[in-house]
Amino acid sequence: MSEYEGIPIITNVYPNEVTEGKVTAARLPEMVKFFSEKTGLKYPYAKYAQTTVRDFGGGMENISATTQTDNMIHDARTELDSNTDGLQSHELAHQWFGDYVTCRDWSDIWLNESFATYFQGMWDEHKLGADDFLYSDVKANQDAYLNAWRQGNRHPIVTKNYASPDSVFDTYAYPRGGAVLHMLRKTLGEDNWWRAINYYLRKYANQPVETEQFRIAIEESTGQAMDWFFDEWLYKMGHPIFRVTQDYDPATKALKLSVEQLQTIDSSSQFPQVALFQTPVEIEIGTASGTHLEHVQIRPKKEQTFTLTVDSKPLLVNFDYRGTLIKEVQFQKTTEELAYQLTRDEDVLGRIWALNQLAGRVTGATTAAVEKERIANELANVITRDKFWGVRLDAAAALANVKDPSARAALVAATRDSDARVRARAVTSLAVSKDPSLASLYERLLSDQSYAVIKAAAVALGETRSSGAFESLAKLLNTRSWRDNIRVSGLSGLAALQDKRALDIAFRYTEKGNPLPLKAAALRLLGKIGRDDPRSFTLIADTASKAFANGDFNLAAAAGEALVSLGDPRGLGVLEQIGQDSSISRRLKEQLSQYQQLLRKVAAGAANPGVKQP
Ligand SMILES: [Zn+2]
Repeated sequence: MSEYEGIPIITNVYPNEVTEGKVTAARLPEMVKFFSEKTGLKYPYAKYAQTTVRDFGGGMENISATTQTDNMIHDARTELDSNTDGLQSHELAHQWFGDYVTCRDWSDIWLNESFATYFQGMWDEHKLGADDFLYSDVKANQDAYLNAWRQGNRHPIVTKNYASPDSVFDTYAYPRGGAVLHMLRKTLGEDNWWRAINYYLRKYANQPVETEQFRIAIEESTGQAMDWFFDEWLYKMGHPIFRVTQDYDPATKALKLSVEQLQTIDSSSQFPQVALFQTPVEIEIGTASGTHLEHVQIRPKKEQTFTLTVDSKPLLVNFDYRGTLIKEVQFQKTTEELAYQLTRDEDVLGRIWALNQLAGRVTGATTAAVEKERIANELANVITRDKFWGVRLDAAAALANVKDPSARAALVAATRDSDARVRARAVTSLAVSKDPSLASLYERLLSDQSYAVIKAAAVALGETRSSGAFESLAKLLNTRSWRDNIRVSGLSGLAALQDKRALDIAFRYTEKGNPLPLKAAALRLLGKIGRDDPRSFTLIADTASKAFANGDFNLAAAAGEALVSLGDPRGLGVLEQIGQDSSISRRLKEQLSQYQQLLRKVAAGAANPGVKQP
């Protein structure tokens, strides 16, 4: 227990997890202080407690007494890979947004969830800095929304037209709303944003609120009319697709930027949509003498041209500096220009954008070999040189399928990166080659401090099928670790190796009494190597039936995957039988039909071994 200005701050964990509970919740008092000071409203209840429980997903922000999954407790080694500050700060932020002030109606759920999501991001900004915030929150929120949009999940954030109260807790209530609050903060400016937040909390203390009341609170506290913003980003759906082109005239030192809006109205949709967007946007321009920002206003027009004066030929033009806007952008640049941006742009999201453009080109069918080599070299340099871990990680991911020797050398170097996340990603990218000459590197990495690196190295080692792999992987099963991370890695590596000698191991760890993560990993292993042993099918089928009936998602997923990789056609009957149970959840039902489809394919292939599956 600790406290903030007389308010007790408590984390309740199991008696045998007290040390790890302290590691996990170390920053909670600082979070209470941060949110109290930033909102200008001191934490509003007599105490704050978070309590971990079993068989519970995520968190629930009961007033002053949050309930959380016991999976959030980490030991110090797990914290090298990730911490659970996101979950903890999200639930804590709900004490202000969701409890102290709460949405009146399900259609206003974003007033709870988007705020908790964005305040979780602002905690990252405070604790980790701007780069982490932009990469792990701002961009991640936008990407989650854009993915949902591409998959056909399209509606405004605020709408009365929803299927059920459960269905409102989706991508729009969380990341999309979080991304909108970031734009709102940038549009208002720092002072007005916090003035509005404070005014809103005080005006509606202990009351239910609607979205319009939040908008009016902003206008009353800042004097700024925000109807256009709410209309565009909250009551209507969609986002702008910009096509930007640049043209520099050396005679007049004028940079002409033309901005087209390419998005179209979907006439089959029942939801209101924005035809043309209006928004302020910041443009970063770099020349030989330095960089500066231009602020322009995009009007709701199909096309607009901005003429900007520069001192010499622009080397860098970054449309939407620091990636504030929810958008898609098409901006054709030469490899030269992209390479410059990748290494020189101060904006981390500008560097990431250039990296993604180059990554598309390095594996592209139309790119010339000499250009591919040049891009591979640029990405390889970034892996070891960029100061931000996320750029190094994305570069390591981009080089997974690049054959150039510079790529391989850089990935090997990145297995020594100071950040565990980069090391793990580098191993996974190297593993694509299944090259046995890397086996000794992977064996060394089995003693890395990071569990994620050990797991990646175990799977990579298994995939090399090298002669010493079995022994090294089996040895991991003797190492006890937090939540059995290392033993699970051993089983996952053995599954990748597909050596039948591991059959006894697989049966041993599927037995009753083993912790769930071990059982799940052992089932997957059995699916890979158990085909010739009649006990395998019976065991996996029984486990699948029970796990689906009990709603045990992790075990059901492992057993389902094992049935697929085992490829026994009798599995189809088992899955069919499970599907008859009307009480299984929608989520499990979706999983079930996926396994049925996959197994049908595998079983058909096994019946006609001479026929290649398309
Ligand atoms: Zn929440």
